[in-house]
Amino acid sequence: MSNVQTPVQHVPAKTTKSIKLVDEAQAKTNLLGMTQAQLAEYFKGIGEKPFRSTQVIKWIYQQGVTDFEQMTNLSKSLRDKLSANACVIPPKVIHRQYSDDGTRKWVFEVTGGSLVETVLIPADDSKLNGRKTLCISSQVGCALDCSFCSTGKQGFERDLTAAEILGQLWVANASYMTNENDSLDNVDHSLWENNVTNVVMMGMGEPLLNYRPVVSSMELMLSDHAYGLSKRRVTLSTSGVVPKMYELAQELDVALAISLHAPNDELRNELVPINKKYPLEQLMAAARNYVFEVNPRHKKHVTIEYVMLDGVNDSNEHAEQLVALLGDLPSKINLIPFNPFPHANYDKSSNNRIHAFSNILSEAGFVCTIRQTRGDDIDAACGQLVGQVADRTRRSAAWQQSIKDREDI
Ligand code: SAH
Ligand code: SF4
Repeated sequence: MSNVQTPVQHVPAKTTKSIKLVDEAQAKTNLLGMTQAQLAEYFKGIGEKPFRSTQVIKWIYQQGVTDFEQMTNLSKSLRDKLSANACVIPPKVIHRQYSDDGTRKWVFEVTGGSLVETVLIPADDSKLNGRKTLCISSQVGCALDCSFCSTGKQGFERDLTAAEILGQLWVANASYMTNENDSLDNVDHSLWENNVTNVVMMGMGEPLLNYRPVVSSMELMLSDHAYGLSKRRVTLSTSGVVPKMYELAQELDVALAISLHAPNDELRNELVPINKKYPLEQLMAAARNYVFEVNPRHKKHVTIEYVMLDGVNDSNEHAEQLVALLGDLPSKINLIPFNPFPHANYDKSSNNRIHAFSNILSEAGFVCTIRQTRGDDIDAACGQLVGQVADRTRRSAAWQQSIKDREDI
């Protein structure tokens, strides 16, 4: 862990206008997060041509426009109709935190008052147009209760809507169009461009347990009419909801990360309890299906996430078991030093242990990366934002630096 101190700006978000917008949202249909097909249906429903959906999608995601009056290729009567019945409202930002290394973090208050965190990590702040990865949350809390995860300890509160999921990306892109001290009410749409280059569904929640809104949001991330991100740059991370992995393979071609964390069922049952329902044999079969069966000519791999817990899953024997388990599955392994949180029952493996473990995997022919945990500086700063949120989201620090370092996502 480095001692680099990153100066952090705390930017209180304005609330007055947002409160008014939330009131509006209750009476109107929020078009944010609707897929092209859903939007076409909506237009049909209000007596308009379905192709209007393409125009509106382009305005929202490619121009950052949320005010129908500014959608100048729509007729005046349609603009009036939309203004009266619909809205485009991203989730409410209650805190922003921009650090000098380019990392940005937002705390959103979603409908009902729950708090959700989103983090943007640039690959290299020396490159203005370099990779920028946004880590998006899919649920408030998580029901799966992995023993090393602070989100899991919080329990499940609720699923996020597609507007709340995709809204995290909309806000991150909008943040480059505002003065740092300004709220999103002052986005300069003439400067709009999509700055986020990569998305990982690795924030709070299990994305495959909020399947439809997550898939709709990812569809818009990939759609050329919306964000047009490359499918290799949009990653869904799952702890192993096997039936939904099969469904996803049929429906959407995105990068897949599997949170494995243990090479045998006995240990995985303890660390990732969903393993009791979908044990390793089933999980590995679903991973193979994702890589091979659906589109065998399109060469893919899965990313295997493995958190390094001191004395728990980090022995040479565990590494050898992992090699045997993965076999010829095209995979890249990412070792994540455990990121501690209050009352956690684990310690982080030593650097020597992590390297010894990694060497066994590399010698067996696997591409293996180790996340270099930095990020505690930003995490501490997060603690100054909202204590409650800080506790819930400390985990994010573990992958902040790693995402910077990684080439595969
Ligand atoms: N629910 C999904 C996605 C969110 S978790 C999943 O489990 O894959 C994103 C990643 O953070 C997962 O790989 C998860 O195992 C890892 N993680 C959770 N808690 C952690 C901690 N305390 N230290 C390091 N990584 C952690
Ligand atoms: Fe949920 Fe993922 Fe945390 Fe497990 S690691 S509790 S699946 S968020």
